[in-house]
Amino acid sequence: MREINRGTAGGNISDLLQKALRALIGTGHGAGQQHHSYDYLFHGHHSNPTRPGFKPSVPVARAAGLAYMTPMTLRPILIHPDPRLKKVCDAVPDLSDELRTLANDMLETMYDAPGIGLAAPQIGMTRRLIVMDCVKEEGEAPQPMIMFNPEIILKSDDLNVYEEGCLSIPDQYAEVTRPAEVRVRWLDMNGNEQERDFDGLWATCVQHEIDHLNGVLFIDYLKPLKRQMITRKMQKLKRERARA
Ligand SMILES: [Zn+2]
Repeated sequence: MREINRGTAGGNISDLLQKALRALIGTGHGAGQQHHSYDYLFHGHHSNPTRPGFKPSVPVARAAGLAYMTPMTLRPILIHPDPRLKKVCDAVPDLSDELRTLANDMLETMYDAPGIGLAAPQIGMTRRLIVMDCVKEEGEAPQPMIMFNPEIILKSDDLNVYEEGCLSIPDQYAEVTRPAEVRVRWLDMNGNEQERDFDGLWATCVQHEIDHLNGVLFIDYLKPLKRQMITRKMQKLKRERARA
């Protein structure tokens, strides 16, 4: 989990990780291009309001080593632009069963998408809650993480560039530069404070997800023209889906 000293700058991830991500993303991207897709990887079915979108889907959670008594629920993912994606989320004051259920649902929704991270506002809940699992290598044990009130308390001076995507901005990618390593503090499912250093893909992912809690999307790091172009594409996509 704690990956230390991955290189600085330039998105120099391991071949294994690249391979895993290519497998995750599928075909259509040229060699040498790396599409690291945080909460990305959208499968159109989420957008269909008539879909039995609330199907219980326990097997993935079981595979992830999560055994819960109640079946989990897939939640529809909001697509940009949406005012709920621009809100600063509220801190979680006390953990409750309701919040734990929400966290489990988010994890399940993320795995189903499939993605490697998801923030509560993406399913319309303005709570400071994110889930992640950046393990994508075939056969490797999943590492689901649930973080309430996550906070970045330390950032490295070293930077890393990854091509990011977002489940709320399907099929759009762009390079974003962020600190290569971060220290994060959060509350776990038991309300215990945790602290850990992240680097590589995990570091970028956790920053991307925490940004969501502050109403910030990865496209906010892009030049206005590029951002507007993506937003227009998403508006068009939403119109098409509304008609479908
Ligand atoms: Zn995102």
